[in-house]
Amino acid sequence: MTPTAQTQLEFLGNLQRILNEGSFVATYKYALIRVLADLSIERTPAADGSLKLSLEDLAERFIEVYWRQAAPFRHRRTLVQATGNQASLLTQLVAIREKVAKFSDARRMPRWRSLVRRTRTLLLEQPLWRLHRVGNELLECFYANRLQDGAIRLKPGVAACFKAQFPVVQALVQLAWLRMVQQLPVNRELIGQGGDVAEFLFGADRSALARLSGGLLEIQAGSCFYCNRRIPGTGHVDHFVPWVRYPRDLGHNFVFAHDVCNSRKGDLLAGLSHLDRWLERNTTRRAELDRIFSETRMLHDAETSRHVAAWSYEQVERAGGLIWVGGERFEHLGREWRSRFAIAS
Ligand SMILES: [Zn+2]
Repeated sequence: MTPTAQTQLEFLGNLQRILNEGSFVATYKYALIRVLADLSIERTPAADGSLKLSLEDLAERFIEVYWRQAAPFRHRRTLVQATGNQASLLTQLVAIREKVAKFSDARRMPRWRSLVRRTRTLLLEQPLWRLHRVGNELLECFYANRLQDGAIRLKPGVAACFKAQFPVVQALVQLAWLRMVQQLPVNRELIGQGGDVAEFLFGADRSALARLSGGLLEIQAGSCFYCNRRIPGTGHVDHFVPWVRYPRDLGHNFVFAHDVCNSRKGDLLAGLSHLDRWLERNTTRRAELDRIFSETRMLHDAETSRHVAAWSYEQVERAGGLIWVGGERFEHLGREWRSRFAIAS
């Protein structure tokens, strides 16, 4: 069920009002919008188009978004993300990062539960209800400002708008977030010394990708996922659904490929024969993949990756976009991809 053009424009209008007219003393509202958009893609809405999201889930994903950003930017200093003192969640994450380097390890620490509990409180006290406040108006455009059974509920059609407009939401939020971090006087000196702030805040975790190469290459018997020819020397851990389309690293989304295949595919989705192999690999090699992702401490959830892939193919079909078949061949995506996900065409 795609929202009408009018509904999507109203949705974007509300988002712009929130970003332009709301007040921002920390970057929490940006992170919250990001989490709402991600969960809209990963979860299935109710029959009426509404989507229930528990405070617990929101808190965990909120922490995940900030995990990367709590790393030192330069000279062992973390970028500040609030106008006063450092945002409290970042301070807590910096302390945890001194003990463990990987997010999946942080989730196994005894203090994880209390971190989630404190983050739930933080959400309630700060961005969750304030998100909808612009000037002295309360928009309540995305969800009603109240908890029910420990959850909020995205209004009917809102998750569909987040899905349909994901790239636009993403761009607007990242730009506003970046601008706030860059303009805080306390960050200026640190940023002035160089470094790509946008890549630091929103880029993929390159070290995680490197850790995966051995395991993926083994599963692919030393060959490129796309062209099936041997990979001599170095190859590339490729995001099957490109990072620019969905910037969250989940294990099942990775394949190993030649540098040249990876760069020819670029930011496009792969053709249907590749899609078939990817779906099949994630089913038949499930146990091995789970082992690789656990050993490399990579977040993974096969079902979520499948949801994200289905959504991304749908986006390209709707836009009349191209997919990469192989080499320098491209074609328009028809409706055939739907049968792979058992979606009616
Ligand atoms: Zn190749």
